[in-house]
Amino acid sequence: MIGVLVVALLTFAALLYVVGPLRRQTSDDEPVDISTLEQAQERKTTALNAIIDLEEEAQVGKLTDRELEILRRGYEREALAALHQLDNLGAVTSERDPLEEEIAAMRKQLACPSCGALRGSAGTCSRCNA
Ligand SMILES: [Zn+2]
Repeated sequence: MIGVLVVALLTFAALLYVVGPLRRQTSDDEPVDISTLEQAQERKTTALNAIIDLEEEAQVGKLTDRELEILRRGYEREALAALHQLDNLGAVTSERDPLEEEIAAMRKQLACPSCGALRGSAGTCSRCNA
């Protein structure tokens, strides 16, 4: 079951890798509007959440370090693309390493208040069940 999930995630990551640059090219000429901005923000949040989820899966041993690295790279590309898009749209982003800062902020949000482990988007701590 986990094997199937990993294959599905890998396929998705590969898809993002292929589709990402194409999609960026076509979106350059689109007029800037609120929905584009919201879409970019949603893209970024989705990718960052996926990275946190992957880290949590690796933490509990569902993914190997290598699987984590491959999958994480795909989502980082997606998150960075979204950040660049937000940048182009004039949204405020941090000047130094925005992706790492976003991930750090997201991690802080998801850290378990009792033991500090990442809880993922599910909200329940896999280490202490808080
Ligand atoms: Zn905990």
